[in-house]
Amino acid sequence: MMQSSAVAATAVALYALDPATSAIFPSCPLRAWTGWLCPGCGTLRAMHALLHGSLPAALQANALATVAVLCAGVAWLHDRARPAASPWLLSMSHAGFSAAGVALALAFGAVRNIPTTPFSWLTP
Ligand SMILES: [Zn+2]
Repeated sequence: MMQSSAVAATAVALYALDPATSAIFPSCPLRAWTGWLCPGCGTLRAMHALLHGSLPAALQANALATVAVLCAGVAWLHDRARPAASPWLLSMSHAGFSAAGVALALAFGAVRNIPTTPFSWLTP
C-alpha cells in the first residue's frame, strides 16, 4: 500500500512537472561532475514523456528505462490478472538486478557516451 502511494505520488509529480525545466528534480551527479551520461540519465524526462503518451520522446530520453518500465507495467498487469500464476514482476526484478542486467545497464551507459551515430541517438 505504501509503495503504491509512493509510485502514484511520483507519477503525479512527473506528470505535472517537466524534469527538463523544473528545478525540483535532482540532476545527475555523474553528468555534473564528469559530463558523462550514466545509464539513468534522462529517466525522469522519459517517464514524464511516457505519462504524456509520447513513446518516441520517452525512448529518446532514455531507451533502457523506457523499455524497462513498459516491461514492468506489462508484468504488473499480468500479475494482477493472474495472481495464481508465477509472478512476472518479481522475476523481472531479479533479472534486472542480476549480473546480466547490471552488465546491460553498464553497457548502455558506456555506448550512449560514444559521440557518433547511432550511439548519439541514445543521448537525451
Ligand atoms: Zn546520469
